[in-house]
Amino acid sequence: MSQPSNRAADTRRHWMDVLERYHEDRSEPLNANYWSEKDNWSRDEIRAVQDAKIAAVTPFLYENSAFYHRRFEMLGLVPTDIKTVDDLIAKWPVVDKSEMMEDAIANSPYGTYTACGEAEWADRGWMLFSSSGSTGVPRVFRYTHFDRKYWEQANARALYSGGARKGDTAFVTVGFGPHVFAWGVQYTLAKMGYPVIPGGGMDSKARVGIIQRFNPTILVCTPSYALFLGRVMQEMGADPAKSSITKIIAGGEPFTGVSGTLERLQDLWGATALEFYGCTEAAPHCGGYSCPEYQKGEENFTHLMEDIQVWETVDPDTLDPVAENERGLTVCTNLNSESSPQLRFLVGDYTRLNTEPCACGRNHVRAMGCMTGRADDLINLRGIKFFPVQIEEAVRAIPGAGDEFQIRLTTNEGELDVMTVLVEHENVDVADSVVNEIRSRCEIRCTVEVLAPDTLPKAEMKAKRVFDERGSS
Ligand SMILES: [Zn+2]
Repeated sequence: MSQPSNRAADTRRHWMDVLERYHEDRSEPLNANYWSEKDNWSRDEIRAVQDAKIAAVTPFLYENSAFYHRRFEMLGLVPTDIKTVDDLIAKWPVVDKSEMMEDAIANSPYGTYTACGEAEWADRGWMLFSSSGSTGVPRVFRYTHFDRKYWEQANARALYSGGARKGDTAFVTVGFGPHVFAWGVQYTLAKMGYPVIPGGGMDSKARVGIIQRFNPTILVCTPSYALFLGRVMQEMGADPAKSSITKIIAGGEPFTGVSGTLERLQDLWGATALEFYGCTEAAPHCGGYSCPEYQKGEENFTHLMEDIQVWETVDPDTLDPVAENERGLTVCTNLNSESSPQLRFLVGDYTRLNTEPCACGRNHVRAMGCMTGRADDLINLRGIKFFPVQIEEAVRAIPGAGDEFQIRLTTNEGELDVMTVLVEHENVDVADSVVNEIRSRCEIRCTVEVLAPDTLPKAEMKAKRVFDERGSS
């Protein structure tokens, strides 16, 4: 008689075998244009691999994650009910942040939504990351060194697609806290064999000094910090456009689809700005990335990496899938991890997906118009709904306006919720123009206060631009 099988261990072994089957351990690109042959896979090839991974990941999650086990039982499903992408979309309701948050609260400190337990952490633990906690309870994620290899390849494909090449030196100016972006890029650059200058723990003037002395070619940071650092450089009497920086790899905030912001950033630095899009919960390494064609057409776009993730868009109200080319919220299934595969996590950025082949040779789906605001950020003012990026575009449309702006939501004496937008400009008379730009984009009236240039605080990480003080007066 054989020993009774240990289903948790068996399904883990099988899932890791499937992951290994499709893993390439590259430290050099496939050729001049692509890091991996997967970049050129046909849509049929992509789908076949997604299906193979889904068939292996559902039994694994059922046996190794209490969160997923409970959800299967609640839905009256067994793992073999979900073997393909079609099964998944038809049978598995979207998981949102609040569901994960409840699990994190009930099962502190790690929650049960990952499959990295004490044994895996002790044996091959790599790093612990945390969601920013800007909304609600932070979710933490422990990853293993097994996962690290998968992060490195996903990110290498993205960085190479954007144009990072041997000979580049990266200057990583994001904080090295427990956030996925900086560490993922850091380890990937090491795997690719590209040199790095770490830029944590110093102020912006010191960072400008590093650029001037050591001539890095790639700047890694948030888009708002890239703008700020460029301005600091100007104040120090130098022109960022004449610096050594030729590429900006930016993440953490929407920018490639924000009219005015991308141009401003690229003009300031005389560099190409590239998207690095993901989320802590389901795309901790790159999910969305730029290719050489991304800003050559009528609208900018972001590729999504489909052989390792399934990307969909859903209706914001019903959470039902929306048709291709229709606007919906992003949903990601992560099929690229031992520690934290996730099924249909609502990332929640608005975009439109398009599966037509791209001129760059990649068949991976594209998010047309890029990402234009996360559902969490939607502002509802007296029933009128709009995104902070719409205000950003209005501010960018005003020549001479400063990079920073703030949106302040308050309740006035008449108990009416109102919005005041703070902008920086040398000429206070631009207030009316800003009011009109905002009204034409958001169909809302607001008050605009014009402040002297360089009055508003600058952000080193994500810029905080919305201050909601409604009902607090
Ligand atoms: Zn492309």
